[in-house]
Amino acid sequence: MKTHQERMAKKKEVIDKRIAQATEERGVLILLKGNGKGKSSSAFGTMARCVGHGKKAAVIQFVKGRTETGEFKLFRDHELIDWNVMGHGFTWETQDKSQDIAAAEKAWALAEQYLQDNSYEMLVFDELSYMFKYKYLPLEPVIEALKNRPKNQHVMITGRVMPEGLEEIADTISSIRDERHAFRLGVKAQAGIEF
Ligand code: ATP
Ligand code: MG
Repeated sequence: MKTHQERMAKKKEVIDKRIAQATEERGVLILLKGNGKGKSSSAFGTMARCVGHGKKAAVIQFVKGRTETGEFKLFRDHELIDWNVMGHGFTWETQDKSQDIAAAEKAWALAEQYLQDNSYEMLVFDELSYMFKYKYLPLEPVIEALKNRPKNQHVMITGRVMPEGLEEIADTISSIRDERHAFRLGVKAQAGIEF
């Protein structure tokens, strides 16, 4: 029977070897998907981490029209963050497809500019994935722009379902499973938790 110390020493050896093998430093594409709660908040949390190191970031919200979110109030005046709320809300609320498409195209035009600007080290495209689900944007140009972005630039994309093409080029994919949600227990959307 191995002692605790021996097991930990072995574990350290394995982990140290893995760390030594990961030597590359570059921008990563992170997808946060799934039906559980925690996608956007994870993206904004990681962005806060990045900005805390003095790096510049930009956010584009493709769906939400809402500007009274806590994160918007906290970050909108930050000198290192450009925050853009480009959507008018969910498609079943607006019920106006041509208006939604125009908003999607405008948001994507801005996203493309950021993807060519290496002064931004972190981009968050919140709910971009819905643009493909509803066919508001073609996928190919998005993939091309992501592939050709500056080498140091991190991109985080959120949305419940990701198109396969995005998953193919992603470096990190986290899927958040919906095990339980307070909403189904009768708890309403609360400031500080949902927005
Ligand atoms: P958050 O912004 O809290 O990280 P999210 O980005 O993962 O959540 P969205 O799909 O963008 O979730 O949904 C927006 C809001 O809807 C969330 O803040 C939230 O708590 C609520 N929500 C998320 N998942 C569920 C669910 N499975 N059932 C009910 N409401 C949900
Ligand atoms: Mg979200």
